[in-house]
Amino acid sequence: MTALNVAGVYHDSISNGEGWRSVLFVSGCPHRCKGCHNPNTWQQEFGSPYNEEEVFEQLTDNELLDGVTFSGGEPFLYTETLLPLARKIKEKGLNIWVYTGYVWEELLEHAENDLCTHQFLETIDVLVDGRFEIQKKDPSLKFRGSRNQRIIDVKASIKEGVLIELEE
Ligand code: SF4
Repeated sequence: MTALNVAGVYHDSISNGEGWRSVLFVSGCPHRCKGCHNPNTWQQEFGSPYNEEEVFEQLTDNELLDGVTFSGGEPFLYTETLLPLARKIKEKGLNIWVYTGYVWEELLEHAENDLCTHQFLETIDVLVDGRFEIQKKDPSLKFRGSRNQRIIDVKASIKEGVLIELEE
């Protein structure tokens, strides 16, 4: 397992998912999308070493919070590390959004043989999937940068066995 570095923690966000949110930006991303807004997060060495207790406190120390968003970087590089954090966040009654450069179908396939990916997916409420594609960039889109990306209701999709997108 690769050690996780934290690229940053962002407070009081209303643009990284619905409601009032904290955002964890992880370091390390294999996707290298042209026009990426966070290219400093591509290197796994960027940022500071992850400490679960500290990050949990930073992310959740706000009574008005609706949820926490994992972004990056690529959160699915660190499912084993992020799984216990995600579970603690859920135990606190907060929802979880995750931004990933992988597509839903790739993650489901990977989850078939990787328990951590499977269990991490189960903690997620909403997944925004797919690489940022600059030719499909659309500033009018809510919570995503390009039209290929989908805002997926993970709980409903797992329950029904088909991809269900969140209504905008
Ligand atoms: S997946 Fe996200 S963080 Fe990674 S290169 Fe693409 S836009 Fe940047």
